Amino acid sequence: MANRYNNILETIGGTPVVKLGKLAPEGVNLYAKIEAFNPMGSVKDRLALGIIEAAEKSGDLKPGQTVIEATSGNTGIGLAMVCAQKGYPLVVTMAASFSIERRKMMRFLGAKVIITPAPKKGSGMLAKAVELADKHGWFLCRQFENEANADFHSRTTAREILDDFADEKLDYWVTGYGTGGTLKGVSRVLKKESPDTKVVVCEPANAALLASGTEQESDAQGNPVSHPAFQPHPMQGWTPDFISKLTADSVDSGLIDQKLTVAGDDAMRCSKALAQQEGIFVGISAGGTLAAALEVAKNAPKGSNILCMLPDTGERYLSTPLFGDVSVDMNEAELEISHSTPNFHFEG
Ligand code: PMP
Repeated sequence: MANRYNNILETIGGTPVVKLGKLAPEGVNLYAKIEAFNPMGSVKDRLALGIIEAAEKSGDLKPGQTVIEATSGNTGIGLAMVCAQKGYPLVVTMAASFSIERRKMMRFLGAKVIITPAPKKGSGMLAKAVELADKHGWFLCRQFENEANADFHSRTTAREILDDFADEKLDYWVTGYGTGGTLKGVSRVLKKESPDTKVVVCEPANAALLASGTEQESDAQGNPVSHPAFQPHPMQGWTPDFISKLTADSVDSGLIDQKLTVAGDDAMRCSKALAQQEGIFVGISAGGTLAAALEVAKNAPKGSNILCMLPDTGERYLSTPLFGDVSVDMNEAELEISHSTPNFHFEG
């Protein structure tokens, strides 16, 4: 296949599946689908293109109309790329708790970013986006319920996985959820075309909304209210403070075979292990998904093939606790190296 494209949007998807030879336990084959290979470095580039193209087709989005969305960052970054390339103005609402790299990247791509208070969480930034869209007549993406989100994953992510395991059985597919687009879109195709593949869903240990068994409630306007099982967690992009429609659909249609929870520290430890032992530089939710996949691997029969989703690049987390013990100044070991030659001493 030629590697020449008409525009950047054609490079979305087609991400590689890579074997984790060092981190996998004996006798189990562990693979990762690395979504950082998308042009803006995350799985959400797919949804951004899927939602905008579906809205263009349906006529819900008019030429030159402003697009608005509530996002923890990666959707906004993907939308900023898609809107820049296609010529739509973009406004994003985002809670102050998400990393500042994300705000700056969206603004650099030409988007306007409206910051909402961290204590109002995901549901607060969503309420603000709804209000702004109503007042100004903007196109609201509604990533948490828009079928175009799951549809794009069915058409691309799921097909790529089936192709990559065409000559190998896939025993387990492991994913977290934010909007649930990846979960719903991929798992419904796997259930049909690879029915022996078990779908494993992971969520934060301190925000285990699905495991809690408590149903999501909505306010009078039909917007989700903050779920009682939610607590803030470091896996940005995973589990917001409500169960989205796309996620609930996946539960209700029986697409999920197993649920696991992951502690924030384990997610960060696994993200670091991927970087330092496999050379794979990804974010905290990716570490979380690997942590769950390692848990699956512990009990999986010998010869099992496990695939976990790695949703984004580690570069999006420089200002977060993931890099908390990475110093700007030289550490002891580096100073010792610096001092080990006689002539050049630079450290004052
Ligand atoms: N990880 C990260 C870093 C994300 O940005 C997202 C999207 N919010 C997810 C995981 C979850 O993906 P999905 O929205 O398809 O459930």
